[in-house]
Amino acid sequence: MQLISGSRRRHALNRGRAVRRSGRYNGPGTTSDAFAGNSRDRLLPAVDAMKTRYRAFGAYLRERFGCRVHKVTIHAGFTCPNRDGTRGTGGCTFCNNNGFSPNTRLEPAAVREQLTDGIARIRRRTRAEAFIAYFQAYSNTHGPVERLKALYDEAWNVPGVVGMAVGTRPDCIDEPRLELIAGYAARGELWIEYGLQSWHDRTLKAINRCHTAAEFVRAVEMTRGRDIRICAHTILGLPGEDRAMMLETHRRLADLPIDGIKIHLLHVMRDTPLEADYRRGNLRLLSQEEYVRLVADVLELLPPHVVIQRMHADAPADVLVAPDWCLDKARVLDDIRQELVRRDTWQGRALGFAREDLARPVSPRQRAFEAAIASRGPADPEIKG
Ligand code: SF4
Repeated sequence: MQLISGSRRRHALNRGRAVRRSGRYNGPGTTSDAFAGNSRDRLLPAVDAMKTRYRAFGAYLRERFGCRVHKVTIHAGFTCPNRDGTRGTGGCTFCNNNGFSPNTRLEPAAVREQLTDGIARIRRRTRAEAFIAYFQAYSNTHGPVERLKALYDEAWNVPGVVGMAVGTRPDCIDEPRLELIAGYAARGELWIEYGLQSWHDRTLKAINRCHTAAEFVRAVEMTRGRDIRICAHTILGLPGEDRAMMLETHRRLADLPIDGIKIHLLHVMRDTPLEADYRRGNLRLLSQEEYVRLVADVLELLPPHVVIQRMHADAPADVLVAPDWCLDKARVLDDIRQELVRRDTWQGRALGFAREDLARPVSPRQRAFEAAIASRGPADPEIKG
């Protein structure tokens, strides 16, 4: 899967350059992805990876497109199977979609309008020259295929869009939907993002996910072999989980053919069942120090080809209940980087990879090699921290 053919790569690079030359955009944007446009990521990709000790999404995109690429979030008016009764009601205990991105608070505008407004805002704020349409809110494959096609087509036809990312649940995908999404592969960068959160079914039940880890594996298996990159979402600090359980989730992920990951901190948002638990004193949240050490542990367990799309989570201040420290995203990210430096470690180190492996471009051969190594288990099971 995820083979980048020479012609596709050339097409993507040319598209990025064309966008850069055209100078059509003059406005801002919204994204909640930490690395798609991080102002710190200003070095060449290889140097960047060596410097940051993990494969950052922003650097990966620059390597692919030759320019700065930013995600633009879209609320396309979906709901999710965990809210509409298909699999459950009430949603995940932590979920308040108003915490995802500003546009989830509004009645969804047309996809084209959201993208053109978002691109304009991002252009005013950053030096981004190309954009990924990110169907973020709720489950973006939860609808008839014809409706999905119309929405995805609308996104790809917006000038400046060089990619699409579709966020969904692992129980919300099937062959027709994957066929539809894979059909856009020749047009640029293509990701599907599956929420796993935890490998442990006991935890998934406790947070009312209404799907199992086996369903996640099934979704990944169905997706592999197509020209779609797979990103997994996980959460650190879920109720009832200790460090060993959290690391187990990521060890299992490292054995699967995923291409990217978003690591989130469990945080409490208003108007959620989790808020009630927290106020009753039934929920212990991670401290900043614990979280930073855990993220470093997780990075050590992930093969170098896995793109780190996120390693923090926060919410708007008026939606966030706790912990306060997660509002200072820049500091948390800095602390994670400092922790990697302090340990003199890097992504994939526990699997036996050298730091130099992070400087190699992601290629199908490297990916297959790393997957084989990862499936053999950690070379150094004694993780620091
Ligand atoms: S986190 Fe996702 S799956 Fe869970 S309730 Fe919210 S939108 Fe639905």
